[in-house]
Amino acid sequence: TDLARIRNFSIVAHIDHGKSTLADRLIQETNTVALRDMKEQMLDAMDIERERGITIKANTVRIDWTAADGHEYVLNLIDTPGHVDFAYEVSRSMRAVEGSLLVVDSTQGVEAQTLANVYQAIDADHEIVPVLNKIDLPASEPDRVREQIEDVIGIDASEALLVSAKTGQGITATLQAIVDRLPAPKGDIDAPLKAMLVDSWYDSYLGVIVLVRIIDGRLRKGDRVKFMSNGTVHHVDRIGVFRPPMTEIDELGPGEIGFLTASIKQVRDTRVGDTITHEKRPTDRALPGFKPSQPVVFCGLFPVDAAEFEDLRDAIEKLSLNDASFSSEVETSAALGFGFRCGFLGLLHLEVIRDRLEREYDIDLITTAPSVVYHVHMRDGEMLELHNPADMPDLTHVDHLEEPRIKATILVPDEYLGDVLKLCQDRRGIQMDLTYAGPRAMVVYDLPLNEVVFDFYDRLKSVTKGYASFDYQMIGYREDALVKMSILVNDEPVDALSTMVHRDRAEQRGRAMVEKLKELIPRHMFKIPIQAAIGGRVVARETLSAMRKDVTAKCYGGDATRKKKLLEKQKAGKKKMRQFGKVEIPQSAFISALKMD
Ligand code: GDP
Ligand code: MG
Repeated sequence: TDLARIRNFSIVAHIDHGKSTLADRLIQETNTVALRDMKEQMLDAMDIERERGITIKANTVRIDWTAADGHEYVLNLIDTPGHVDFAYEVSRSMRAVEGSLLVVDSTQGVEAQTLANVYQAIDADHEIVPVLNKIDLPASEPDRVREQIEDVIGIDASEALLVSAKTGQGITATLQAIVDRLPAPKGDIDAPLKAMLVDSWYDSYLGVIVLVRIIDGRLRKGDRVKFMSNGTVHHVDRIGVFRPPMTEIDELGPGEIGFLTASIKQVRDTRVGDTITHEKRPTDRALPGFKPSQPVVFCGLFPVDAAEFEDLRDAIEKLSLNDASFSSEVETSAALGFGFRCGFLGLLHLEVIRDRLEREYDIDLITTAPSVVYHVHMRDGEMLELHNPADMPDLTHVDHLEEPRIKATILVPDEYLGDVLKLCQDRRGIQMDLTYAGPRAMVVYDLPLNEVVFDFYDRLKSVTKGYASFDYQMIGYREDALVKMSILVNDEPVDALSTMVHRDRAEQRGRAMVEKLKELIPRHMFKIPIQAAIGGRVVARETLSAMRKDVTAKCYGGDATRKKKLLEKQKAGKKKMRQFGKVEIPQSAFISALKMD
């Protein structure tokens, strides 16, 4: 295709502002998909994404559209994920396109993810076309939101498009704006092949599918290509585009976006941001490298039923094939037996994987408290990365600890500002900035990641009745007075409940934890002491009193089926229990005990 007739773009938006609906509309308007094949939210492929209304994997679609000048244009849309955990995926797909539609819900205005995503687009040198969506709603305030975009983001919004992705109003104007206002890609068809690996995923029929953006040269079926990061050579057996169904074509040229398959077995072998070139006549310069995404949150995943360990191993291996940012290694816990220590990009990522393991693979899991990666500086000068509080080395050898910090941006209506400041302060935050954008405040905090990973987002939502938006980025490691807190149940340490805490908070956190455990652990036939300890020092203690546990006593002897039912119910409940010495702890206790409130 002639370069002048190509436009490559992405859509950036805060969650729920209508990105997917708009993408669907653009596809529908151009009849890219026959109407009867049109499912709502075409681009959100996986069930979980659909259920939660989030987009996890970047998707792409090629739209052919005849513009006002009578020429046919190829419009390539790359759909990017909207959630904070996947900021890295957003940044990489941004590099593959020249422009962005900035979708803002005109009944809401700019939110934290609007900012985070648009800054990524600006970083990638995009031309940006603001789109005010949901103008069909009576609460729509396009003038106010236009002004807010100019004030807060600092881009010209005077020609923002007025759109309803729901009714279709403004869709043709949007397509025309893509053609008129976004730049055509540049590239040299005669130069050696240079293509960017934008994304990859596993398909059970075709093996790994690689999404590429051609910078220079041409890519044809049958070519032998080299991945420059590791020097591996592959024979290309298919190339094509997404309309959205995969459609094979013969060649991809400069500026084009499409896929290749080459009998690649593992997603891990395809590094995002890698440069793909021809084995013969390679390009002499690779694209500036992307850093691979690093897991930042770790937790243990253990099968409730120890017999399911091998099933869990298989399931984790399968998921890893398709998700290079998810890491795992075998972990043994005195309390929980064999399981896996897994690393994730963030809490949502963790939740998505855990859900898939439980639902798609039907494995009941115990999830231990999420933990961040600490840097443990030893007295001998060595530095260890601590992924699991249970592995904390003996303190006599430790010089100091560092923890990861984030820069958190929160947008919140004025009336809730006080609660938000208090929450951030309670989580050891340092205020960096506080400004106003209309009736909303924008606060920026430097916060320890470990104070955020567990339930910060939930707390933020509840203190602001859902009106705050939140985004963050890592800013680096800093030293602080951190200690490992152990929990002892009936004098036995429960390794899975060990956590890292700040020394000043240890007593308070310990007390809250043992009080909670006292409620969560059912009474036994004997007294159970529950303690929180730092090193050998007990900082909090509760005692669970003894009880005669006879659930069938209530059944007045007679009704045998009812009695049987109760016993069965109790047995099923036991499946979710774990034995610690003589004590049984329900799995829900592991998560609940670590929630702070
Ligand atoms: P995304 O999270 O940005 O992908 O947002 P979605 O496309 O999933 O849209 C979020 C919600 O807003 C859905 O319930 C849509 O039906 C609704 N929505 C999207 N665009 C419009 C619009 O123009 N008007 C109205 N009334 N609702 C819309
Ligand atoms: Mg969506």
